[in-house]
Amino acid sequence: MSSQQQKIIVIGAGASGIACATKLLEYGFQNVLVVEAEQRIGGRIHTIPFGDNVIDLGAQWCHGEQDNIVYELASKHDLLETTGPVYENYQCVRSNREVVPEHVANRLKAIVNDSLVTRQLELRNCSGSLGSYLSNKFYEMLRRPEYADIDERIAKEFFENYQKFENSVEASDTLDQVSGRGYLEYWECEGDILLNWKDTGFVELLRVLLRAPSFPELPQLGSLDERVLFGRRVTQIQWNRNDSRVEVLFSNGDSCLADHVVVTVSLGVLKEQHWRLFEPKLPVEKQRAIEGLAFGTVNKIFVEFPQPFWPEDWTGFTMLWREEDLQDIRDTERAWLEDVFGFYRVSYQPNVLAGWIINANGRHMETLPEDEVLAGCTYLFRRFLHWQIPEPIGFRTSAWYSNENFRGSYSYRSMETEQMGTGAHDLAQPLTVVTPTPRTVTPPQETTELPLLQTRCDKPIVLFAGEASSPHYYSTVHGAVEAGWREAKRLADFYGLPRAVKKSQL
Ligand SMILES: Cc1cc2nc3c(=O)[nH]c(=O)nc-3n(C[C@H](O)[C@H](O)[C@H](O)COP(=O)(O)OP(=O)(O)OC[C@H]3O[C@@H](n4cnc5c(N)ncnc54)[C@H](O)[C@@H]3O)c2cc1C
Repeated sequence: MSSQQQKIIVIGAGASGIACATKLLEYGFQNVLVVEAEQRIGGRIHTIPFGDNVIDLGAQWCHGEQDNIVYELASKHDLLETTGPVYENYQCVRSNREVVPEHVANRLKAIVNDSLVTRQLELRNCSGSLGSYLSNKFYEMLRRPEYADIDERIAKEFFENYQKFENSVEASDTLDQVSGRGYLEYWECEGDILLNWKDTGFVELLRVLLRAPSFPELPQLGSLDERVLFGRRVTQIQWNRNDSRVEVLFSNGDSCLADHVVVTVSLGVLKEQHWRLFEPKLPVEKQRAIEGLAFGTVNKIFVEFPQPFWPEDWTGFTMLWREEDLQDIRDTERAWLEDVFGFYRVSYQPNVLAGWIINANGRHMETLPEDEVLAGCTYLFRRFLHWQIPEPIGFRTSAWYSNENFRGSYSYRSMETEQMGTGAHDLAQPLTVVTPTPRTVTPPQETTELPLLQTRCDKPIVLFAGEASSPHYYSTVHGAVEAGWREAKRLADFYGLPRAVKKSQL
């Protein structure tokens, strides 16, 4: 069998799986199958119709421009647009409807921004959590004479709210879980970090990767659609067979033999299922990576109104709970609302506000009936805003934790990751078997390049991609895409296949 006939099963049709499968086809592999438990493509990219347009229940923005593969792919087709300073110019509103004066709010925002952006050197030497670092910094700055005029209660309420915001960035429950040093493992791509997909949603990226007919200028791959099995959950990967092939079992009782399997399921799924998903069990280092890397939940709440009740230049608000008002909802059925930290305008959606909720309360929201969640959100609008709030006409929330195909939103580096001394590198390592003899490599017909000579006999039979396996771009789509390409390249390198399509052609 030629190298191009090797059977490769990619588990998961999210960004990483689709990127991996399409790249494998580009390399010339012909026997590629994608298996997806959901009935749709995209995974944590989930664009749905809503309001005047579409919304993204998962990934929404391309975060940055430089060294960002998503930006590279999208900007060639002019698919992205700046979101503007929505997440900078928001109003800070207290639970008695008092709007914190802009000059006070701006100074408080500057303190927290400064703590993270310009103090990276300090974080490098920080042995504690991001939470303790930020809290020390914030209150240390506040003690300076130039901040003496700021009401301490407002500063505290602001910082409580800011921590919730930062938890949404990390997907952590509390910032005490996040490693201060580990925080720096994430590399922010330079440039605009809130680029939206205009009126198409993030799903447009998948159309680019799949060379959809709407992009006729891209070299065609042949339809990947026919190679994706939807609604097919993988229940077990038997990887230590004597013939060095892998058997994949499905929930409907079917099974399939493959030469290579690329696992792109989320870290949340791996955490819950790795002990029964792999037979035999995974090596200890891999188990430690799965257990040590952290994965948390962030959910979104979209509310559509008949028309905007806010002024044109208003971009949204964050909720600063006064201690005495929090008592109104704590110990009641509305206690979960404490962790909805703000609502913001949405690009291309004139009548929609998008809220965010974190931690255990975000997971709890997923279990509540929709009318209860909507009633809670309406309560928040009326509690915090002084305008007349109309009855919403559309409502949608995400539920990333309760779905067994995700079990959360994205990965981060926790104190436990640091203590266990594990990381993305261990997660990304393939499971290999030693092949007895070097293989003969069949050169792809369409290329004149000579195949590389194989000198190694370690055959990667189970490979791991997915956002969490990205060393510096974890928690993002560009990290997921890069990881998918990385594993496709690993297989191409193993078979000595030269690159079929140059990056610049995409
Ligand atoms: C609320 C939210 C907001 C986000 N915002 C952004 C953002 O603005 N910008 C950004 O860059 N990133 C963002 N992200 C992160 C981004 O969405 C992810 O990093 C990325 O989409 C992950 O892609 P993936 O292919 O690694 O994993 P996934 O998308 O999770 O794909 C894995 C696939 O495997 C399938 N699967 C799971 N188990 C099985 C099984 N047993 N058998 C078969 N199939 C299985 C799943 O159904 C899924 O489709 C956000 C995520 C969330 C949840």
